[in-house]
Amino acid sequence: MDCLFCKIAAGEIPSTKVYEDDRILVFKDIDPKAPFHVLLIPKEHIDSAAKIDENNSSIVAHIFETAAKIAAENGLDGGFRIVTNVGEDGGQTVKHLHFHMLAGRSLAWPPG
Ligand code: AMP
Ligand code: ZN
Repeated sequence: MDCLFCKIAAGEIPSTKVYEDDRILVFKDIDPKAPFHVLLIPKEHIDSAAKIDENNSSIVAHIFETAAKIAAENGLDGGFRIVTNVGEDGGQTVKHLHFHMLAGRSLAWPPG
């Protein structure tokens, strides 16, 4: 499958890694939208949050546990945002499940 984030997870395309284990990878977004902007992805290919089901949902818990640790390690005491875009209306450009973690500035709500 020709998937950018599968290739990053496999190490075939370089990334700036923040955290890695056997199931997930966290790396810096190449075009950061905030002073702190990382992407948390499962190594397993999942198209988007619309494809989460009882067989693969444990990865989401693991990703959020890891996000909390990353927040603590990086001193994100002012808060942060985790967002996942789904499909065309959601603004998803890479069709491999990923969670944006943004911090370091006040983030507008609601998003545009
Ligand atoms: P989305 O638009 O929600 O699908 O998010 C895709 C994100 O991937 C964007 O924020 C891009 O800046 C980011 N991105 C695209 N290519 C790369 C790459 N090679 N390394 C790191 N981040 C990337
Ligand atoms: Zn993929």
